[in-house]
Amino acid sequence: MKRITVLGATGSIGQSTLDVVARHPDRFSLWALTGQRRIAELAAQCRRHRPRYAVVGSEADAASLRSLLDDAPTEVLFGERALCLVASAAEVDIVMAAIVGAAGLQPALAAARAGKRVLLANKEALVMAGEVFMGEVKRGGALLLPIDSEHNAVFQSLPPAFGGEFDDKGVLGLLLTASGGPFRCTPREQLVDVTPEQACAHPNWSMGRKISVDSATMMNKGLEVIEAHWLFGAAPERIEVVVHPQSVIHSLVHYADGSVLAQLGNPDMRTPIAHALAWPERVDAGVARLDLAAIARLDFERPDFVRFPCLRLAYEALRVGAGAPAVLNAANEIAVEAFLERRLPFLAISEIVEETLNRLGAPTVDSLEAVLAADAAARRVAGALVARH
Ligand code: NAD
Ligand code: MG
Repeated sequence: MKRITVLGATGSIGQSTLDVVARHPDRFSLWALTGQRRIAELAAQCRRHRPRYAVVGSEADAASLRSLLDDAPTEVLFGERALCLVASAAEVDIVMAAIVGAAGLQPALAAARAGKRVLLANKEALVMAGEVFMGEVKRGGALLLPIDSEHNAVFQSLPPAFGGEFDDKGVLGLLLTASGGPFRCTPREQLVDVTPEQACAHPNWSMGRKISVDSATMMNKGLEVIEAHWLFGAAPERIEVVVHPQSVIHSLVHYADGSVLAQLGNPDMRTPIAHALAWPERVDAGVARLDLAAIARLDFERPDFVRFPCLRLAYEALRVGAGAPAVLNAANEIAVEAFLERRLPFLAISEIVEETLNRLGAPTVDSLEAVLAADAAARRVAGALVARH
């Protein structure tokens, strides 16, 4: 029986994780659930799954949660230290890192340090602190398994125990697929006044609002290029992006002999979640069997770096290296939040990110303190740029 902590249980990935876990009561049990908002939903999850701990953001939320728990045996904690505690407790085997944004870094690091099986959905943690994060994974003896569908597909398509030996193992490169998001065919002039509702209406995936906006700007694919660099030890020129609107092929690996291996499936995050929970075994995820004849056709096109400048900026930040990805990530979080609050137009998101990168360049990020300082500096600069816009 494996005990699981789900960081970000009330989110889209968190809910899918609970769905998969509940299908296998003989294999998995829930040790801790965490959520920042939606306290009533978290209470319902606790009453249903009866975890040992629940963690919320504030003392007031902890009191509200306690009052909603009825007879659930769950102890309620709050704050970042409590998140790190339930991510690293000796009783825990598996940690799902599904908090959105930089807020998820410290608890994910705590899980890595404690040598857990870390299921990483929170790509921002790796983008901002790749070197530090991978160092802690190695030192802690953690097993890091990707939940992002593209990286999970690459993981499944690479040779077993791949540790970045591209040439030795005949691996030419990685090909990440991108749906293209809701504005794949929208001319740039029509992007001027799109609303948060339009940006969050993803054609294939139902996700949290931040990643939905990232998909609309294609910053999500840019973050994923950087994520792939750290997860698989891939140089930027080994990572390509192809737009594939049906989201059936989740990503591919090119081999020296001309073979291309890919992982396919219906666009349902329960597949990568179940894969990483049970790896190297396979278990039911509740996902419908893929019906290729019903899908009938799969399309591909090259990404448009002009209409989607965020993808270009992410590649540039990765090539510059050091703290440029941390700056890119923090500026993007600030700009997306402002867009979602209707304080910033859609097309200004990439402008804020680019200007923040121009001003801050690539600070050193060789320690956690340095990463947090780069993140804070980028938030200040981007915040001021948003206010002036
Ligand atoms: P979401 O917004 O639906 O959920 C986010 C979760 O994080 C919620 O439980 C929320 O309460 C919690 N949270 C938010 N701010 C917090 C804070 N400051 N402190 C502690 N907890 C906080 O997001 P999501 O779509 O589930 O995405 C989660 C992560 O997984 C993101 O990093 C995203 O990029 C990644 N991801 C998501 C999908 C998807 O299909 N949803 C796919 C691939 C990767
Ligand atoms: Mg993805």
